[in-house]
Amino acid sequence: MLTPPQVVTQLSLIRQLRFCAGHRLHRHESKCAFFHGHNYRVDVEVVAAAGSNEVDAVGRIVDFSLIKQRLLGWLDAHWDHAFLIFEDDTNALESICRVVPTKYFVMPWNPTAENMARYLLEVVAPGVLADLGVMARQVAVWETEESCAVATRVGDPVSPTVPLGSAVIVDNR
Ligand SMILES: [Zn+2]
Repeated sequence: MLTPPQVVTQLSLIRQLRFCAGHRLHRHESKCAFFHGHNYRVDVEVVAAAGSNEVDAVGRIVDFSLIKQRLLGWLDAHWDHAFLIFEDDTNALESICRVVPTKYFVMPWNPTAENMARYLLEVVAPGVLADLGVMARQVAVWETEESCAVATRVGDPVSPTVPLGSAVIVDNR
């Protein structure tokens, strides 16, 4: 006897988040080596942490407003209107420290859209979403309207390989 086909459904949410930031790409061979900025868009996809299709009594994985509050809250505090600088880019770090007021964030990796997506997926999301019972499955970082980099979780979550950083803000006004 034939087994009837199973319906396999994975539920997820996608929330768009926007922020502005400056960066430069250390050792870039062309114009991205100059200080410049982007109006970034982040699409974060969230699933139930247990990997199930569990929803609450209302039928939600989690309320959209909580994703916004946690992730956009982190982005506003640490990356929005900040310069993202690779820790090996000592020349950029020396420069940004001299500017007052200043806000910058030292990245463990060169701040490409790929590395920013990876940082948000592996380091930021686990920290800010943990107690909501959800985890980020995918993060897309849009650097322009045409181009984005995507980081996707494959396999079981592991502890972040780098600690969660925070913005340095010097503002005596
Ligand atoms: Zn750029």
